[in-house]
Amino acid sequence: MEEKTLYSKIHLNSASSPQSSYQMRDNKTFKMKEEELYSKAHVAGCIKYVVDKESDEDVELTANDKFSCNLATMLARDKEVVAVNLKTYSNSCIIYISKNNAWFKEDVEYIEKIQIYLRSISKYEPMTWFEALRKDETSALCYEVMKYCSSKFDSRYGKLKKDLIDGKEEQHVKSFTEYISNYTKNIDEEGRLAISQMCCFYYKGNKDKNIPKIFLKHIKEVGSYVGSFINITDCACNQKYKTLFSQVKLHRLNPDIIHKPICSWKSIIHKLIPNSKTYQGFKEACLNDRIISERLIRTYDSIERLDLENINKHIYLHAELNIVSNIINQKIKTRSFIAVSKKCCFLCELYIKFAQQQGYNIVISGAHKKIYHAWKHPDTIDVTFKRNSQTYILKELDQIIMEEIKRYIDLRSRSDSDAGSVDSHIIEDIDDFSAYAEFKSIAKSE
Ligand SMILES: [Zn+2]
Repeated sequence: MEEKTLYSKIHLNSASSPQSSYQMRDNKTFKMKEEELYSKAHVAGCIKYVVDKESDEDVELTANDKFSCNLATMLARDKEVVAVNLKTYSNSCIIYISKNNAWFKEDVEYIEKIQIYLRSISKYEPMTWFEALRKDETSALCYEVMKYCSSKFDSRYGKLKKDLIDGKEEQHVKSFTEYISNYTKNIDEEGRLAISQMCCFYYKGNKDKNIPKIFLKHIKEVGSYVGSFINITDCACNQKYKTLFSQVKLHRLNPDIIHKPICSWKSIIHKLIPNSKTYQGFKEACLNDRIISERLIRTYDSIERLDLENINKHIYLHAELNIVSNIINQKIKTRSFIAVSKKCCFLCELYIKFAQQQGYNIVISGAHKKIYHAWKHPDTIDVTFKRNSQTYILKELDQIIMEEIKRYIDLRSRSDSDAGSVDSHIIEDIDDFSAYAEFKSIAKSE
């Protein structure tokens, strides 16, 4: 009874306190800004999908980082994006794993198997990966990896096969085919494991030669499965890491996929271009651009929906930001490398940049600089961090949208002034006025 009274008092007091109304106002402002951020991510993703050139961070990878990268390759199937972050303790290690989509039963079972196999392999006598291959757990792990990653492997091998057909007369293709012929008469008759193995070893021996980058990339991707498997087995068998892997724990982070209402494309652009005629001109310029127009349809479902308010959009927390959010929630400020099966998008890169400025030593290995509109802002426990990161990203999105609008207005004013000069040049170029009479007769018949 007493407890009830006390609760009521606290409740009443807090409800009537000035701080509560301030908090409510603050929450309202945050929600409005959140809607603005998602709305602007949709707009910017349409009018400026690629912000800059792809980048590869010049990161020196530690043995743990390489292990995380190898594991990310083994965990990414189909088109899914997976992120991995390894934390070591004195006699164990936790590997945080996240992905863009929901976890399926098949994923959960596969991850559990990897954990069991890694623990078993770490109990072997110290040996090389080659010796370990003869053991049951190692060959079972290899089989599971190739099965789980089969469709992604097939898609990657498809790209390499196209290179081999299209460039059969090229020297680099001839050299690769010659190498393969030492092992098989027909590569297509070989299983995935053998193909991946041949590509892995070819890449290792030829990566520094003068071979077209895209061809090497395709070989590397096909060979990455065997490459990852070898590196991971090597680590688990290594005396130095045995203790860590004997207690390894693969921890899946929950995905964060929701629906949020966004403001219309029209209201976002109209606020920045209040003049109706200029707004209409900008809209038409966007619709006349085939790529932008296709993106608008893909993002808003149809051109007619550009004016619609409160459309519910599906957004999700990107795999790498799920890991970053976990690091921030645990306030881990020591070096944290995040291995991602795909390069970071522009908004994830921005968020990580903000976290770095706040003292978080987060390391990633590259970004593709594209704006993905269905991006979700992480819900960190630290509310101040959440608000400040929201403001930081909004400022960048504003700048990107404004630059595109400015580019359009500059282009329009230039073409307006250019139009006059083109006409005058045409007239200047005419040096024969003998046809004057002809024109006069045409003008009469009009
Ligand atoms: Zn991202």
